[in-house]
Amino acid sequence: MTRVLVVEDEPPLMRALEINLKARGYDVETAPDGAHALRRAAARPPDVVLLDLGLPDMDGNDVIKELRGWSRASILVVSARRTSQEKVTALDAGADDYITKPFDMDELLARLRAAARRVKAGKPAVGTAVVETEGFTIDLLAKKARREGRDIRLTPTEWHLVEVLVRNSGRLVSQQQLLQEVWGPSHSTQTNYLRVYMAQLRRKLEADPAHPRHFFTAPGMGYRFAP
Ligand code: CA
Repeated sequence: MTRVLVVEDEPPLMRALEINLKARGYDVETAPDGAHALRRAAARPPDVVLLDLGLPDMDGNDVIKELRGWSRASILVVSARRTSQEKVTALDAGADDYITKPFDMDELLARLRAAARRVKAGKPAVGTAVVETEGFTIDLLAKKARREGRDIRLTPTEWHLVEVLVRNSGRLVSQQQLLQEVWGPSHSTQTNYLRVYMAQLRRKLEADPAHPRHFFTAPGMGYRFAP
């Protein structure tokens, strides 16, 4: 099911979008401002973000830039700003498409389908087993890690963490998601576990654990692996 995050501060329009998208089988989440949008996107990564630019707490272009740092979602701007310069600014910030208000619902749905197709087409092949970075190699299938020619032993919990991060390579994985997947639903608030285990992983795999190149922390939100 395609997951869509609708970011819109006008309640009637938000409601209309939510009803129309749900009726067409989309998994819809909503956010009334930029801060909520970023938190929702981090907690449950959307496939597509429908984004208004005029938001009460921050400019939509800043939401785009922030999302682009860690999200692979396709971003479709839905805005009353209609000059080419305004469109160029949003596209340069990292938006994938742009539709002006007032919009035709059928056109918006068509653009949304196109955006969803692009995201699905760009998803990495499931089952990427071997990950190579300039510093270390991880074979998820054989459960072997090597750094500078030496075998590195990882504990089962460390392997599980690595698996979840590598499966989501390039995107932010929220603290809750990691805790739930690795330790189970009853541990979803034990963020201290994550700090301890991520520090161990960095000591074992990063050349300079204090300045990680592959296992990044997004303070208060989660972690991201970059090969
Ligand atoms: Ca607005």
